[in-house]
Order: sequence, then C-alpha cells, then structure tokens
Amino acid sequence: MTADACGARSDPVPPYTPDGRMKKLSGTSRRLVLAFASLVALFATASVITLRGLSELHELAHDAKHTDERSRTLLSLVSASRDQYAELLGAVIIGDTARYDQAYSGLLGLLGRVATIATTPSERALLSDVQQASARLDSLLREELGRAAPARESSWARQLYARAQPLLTSAQGRLQELARPRETVIDRFDDHAGVIQHSSVRWTLGALIAYVLLAIIVGVYISRSIAGPVARLGEGAARLAAGDLTHRIVVRGDDEFARLAEQFNRMTEALEVNQARLIESEKLAGIGRLAAGVAHEINNPLGVILGYVRVLRGSSEQSAVTQELQIIEDEAIRCHEIVESLLDLARPPKMTREPIALGVLTEEVVARLQHTGVLTAVRLMLESDVEIQGSSSGLRQILMNLLRNAAEAAGEHGSVGVRLSVEEAEVHLSVTDTGKGIEAANRGHLFAPFFTTKPTGTGLGLAISRTIARAHGGELTLDPDVPNTTFTLRLPVRREQVS
Ligand code: ADP
Repeated sequence: MTADACGARSDPVPPYTPDGRMKKLSGTSRRLVLAFASLVALFATASVITLRGLSELHELAHDAKHTDERSRTLLSLVSASRDQYAELLGAVIIGDTARYDQAYSGLLGLLGRVATIATTPSERALLSDVQQASARLDSLLREELGRAAPARESSWARQLYARAQPLLTSAQGRLQELARPRETVIDRFDDHAGVIQHSSVRWTLGALIAYVLLAIIVGVYISRSIAGPVARLGEGAARLAAGDLTHRIVVRGDDEFARLAEQFNRMTEALEVNQARLIESEKLAGIGRLAAGVAHEINNPLGVILGYVRVLRGSSEQSAVTQELQIIEDEAIRCHEIVESLLDLARPPKMTREPIALGVLTEEVVARLQHTGVLTAVRLMLESDVEIQGSSSGLRQILMNLLRNAAEAAGEHGSVGVRLSVEEAEVHLSVTDTGKGIEAANRGHLFAPFFTTKPTGTGLGLAISRTIARAHGGELTLDPDVPNTTFTLRLPVRREQVS
C-alpha cells in the first residue's frame, strides 16, 4: 500500500543518491560554499595585489643595485683618471714611469669594464671621449719624456699642467655625467616604493575591513539559515517526544532543512495516523472481547425467546397478539444480528487466501442484492481478469455492506455504480451512489464502531468492512472531494498482474 491509501502523504523522491550523498549542491551547502568562496576570493585578490607590489619593489631594488654598481665603477674611473694625472706629474719630475704605468694600466682596465656596461650610444660616445682624453694625456707624457732633461726642467711642469688640465677636467666631467643616473634611480626607487607601500597598506586595510564585514555576514547567515531551522527541528522533536502529534514544523525555503522539516512532518503525520489506527483497533479488540463474552450469554436466551415466539405464533391462529408476536420476533432477530456483527468485529476474519476473480464475485453479490430487492438501478464497470488473493466470504461481506449503504442512500429514484480497475500495484473497487451525500461533520466518524445516522442501523458495517480490508493488506476509505459519495476498497494486486 502507498502511504496515501493509509491517509498519509506519499514521499517525494529525496535529493540523495542511494549511498546517502547529496545529488547536487543545493540550498544551504551552495550558499555556504559561495560565502566561503567569496572570503577566499577576497583573500586571493588582496594577496595578488600585495605580491605584485612586492615584485615591483624587487625589480626597482634590482635596478637601483645595478645602477649603483655602474655608478661606482664610473666613479672609480674618475679617481683612476685623477691617479693618471697625479702619477703623470711624478713621472715627469722623477723620470720614473713605473707608478704612472701602473695607474694608466689600471685606468685602461676600468675603461674596458665600463665599455661592457655602457648600453646607450651616448654613453658609448662619452666613454670614447674619456678614452681619447686619457690616451692624449699619455702621449703628452711620452712626448715630454722624449725631450732633453734641461729643456724639460725649465718649462715642463707648467706646460704639461696647462695641456693636461683641460683634458682631465673634460674626462672627469663626462664621467660624472655618466655616474649621475644613480641619484635619479635612487629617487625613482624612493618614489615608487612610497606609492607601492601606500597602496599595499590601503589594500591590506580594505581587505581586513571587508574580511570582518564578510565574516559577520557569514556568521549571521549561518545562525539564521542553520541555527534557526535546527532550533525549529529541535522544538518539533521535543514536542513529538512529549506526545504532541498535532505539531507541524513551519517549512521555510527550499533547502536541506526545509526538506528535513517536510520529512519530519510526514513522519509525525504517519505516526498520528498509525496511532489513531492502533487506538481504533484496540477499541475494536476491547469491544470484541466484551462482545464475545456477552454474545455467548445473550444468544442462548435469545434462541429460547425466538423459539417460544414462533411456537406462540403458530398455536394462536387468530390471536389479538399476532402482530405483537411478530414485532417481538423481528426485534429478537435484530438482537441476534447485532450480536453476530459484534462477534464479527471480535473474530479476525478467516484469511483463507484463495485466488478470487473479483469481477465475478462482484457480479454475484450484485445479482443477489437485486434478487432480494435491495438493489435496483446499478451500473457496473468491471475490468475483467482482476484476480486477488483473499477470503471470498470476507470480501463478499464488504461488498454487501457498501452496496446496501449505497442503495439506502440512493433511494428509490437514485442509482448505484460499481467500478473495478487495476491502478499501479493496487486493485481499486469503488462503490458510488447518487444519494445526498455525507455531512462534513460525520465524515471523520464513519468507520468508528456504532456510528450510525439510521434509526435502525447498528453502525458496525463500515467498521467491520475496514477490519476485513486491512486483514487483506488493503484499505477502505471514503473518497474525498468527489461529487457523489464514493467508498473505495484498495487491495494489493496479485504479483503476476503487476508485471
Ligand atoms: P449502518 O449502515 O448500520 O448505519 P455503517 O457502518 O454501514 O452502519 O454506516 C455508518 C454510517 O455511515 C451510516 O449510518 C451513514 O450515516 C453513513 N453512510 C454509509 N454509507 C453511506 C452512503 N453511501 N451515503 C451516505 N451515508 C453513508
């Protein structure tokens, strides 16, 4: 049976795979992943910006170091050219060129090194100027040393100084010029480093504030979307534990908690239905036990009363009490029927589990009721070949009760319909009538034992019928929301019919 037939709603397909994992990210998980992903994205952006700043700083530092080295080399060239000049004078005065040669070869070596680091054409031009000036200075010395000593002594120093000085000044000036970018680079490094530092601080502070705000938002979100629903579920469970089966959890949204709340509500609903059923069957069992005891005691005196009434009716041909005797007999028979019905409630129906062609059985019962005048206008819509396993006497009793009630409700001018069909794994046997229907207030009590609206009714027909239906693994219900009163008996179909 589906839960529907038992009064509870059927379960929707849950969003889980057979091994219990979620089929896809949904609701809470998706929003949590998004919240944490935005935190990580913010962290990653701030880190990338800081790393870029650091890398720029590194490049600037590298440039500055390189330029500094270049400038140092150029400055040492300035001092080497000064050395050349100083040693040049010594060489002329003393006539020994050893120290001068050493200074000059040092200068040439430096010039060679500088040539490898001069990159632009203007730098190369400057270098060549310096080279030429030094070479010119050297040739001046050689010229001077070539002259006779007395000639040298009179004018040498002043003349040489006068000729060498502009050369030296020009060489040093140009070298200073080459060394100047050092300051520019260092200034540029200072400026850039300042800008990068400020932007890094701004970004770090911004990211910190955004982190705090985002963390607060995620915290509030978690407390609302997780703690709130968990509290509602907890309250529902507590009320259920306290025995309140009417409480339902308010379902909000469409996330895992909403689905859990729905499942919880379904479970409570099923519990409520099952508990009501348990109470009902306990009540029936109690009535049955009582009935079994009383029936035995009442049936014997009833039998005696009936016997004597019949004897009296037979002996007194023209008695004035014939009519009264008839009434006593009728009422005694009714008492007997009530006692028998009570015993039906008490005794679980004999479940012989024979194969039953339900269409054929229905036609038989209808024919019998028509024959006795209980049923007049009846429409049959029976699907042929519907076979079930069960007790034919039990199913006959259900049909008799339903058809009798329907015929009584339909009245002389109304009609009764019987429909037999197979729906999915169930056999549906519906009895409908064109009577005036059932009052809403009575609908919930129809299956309770002794509930009747008829002056001579026992109120046991539907209660007994439902007990028999359930003993077959089925259910008997009043169809809701249909224009004509319809009772439907649902029974499990035989296995061959399902496939
Ligand atoms: P009884 O027929 O002895 O009253 P039942 O258990 O068979 O006992 O029925 C209980 C009550 O259900 C009836 O008294 C009647 O009020 C209502 N009922 C049952 N079937 C119908 C029907 N087809 N149309 C209207 N009311 C019905």
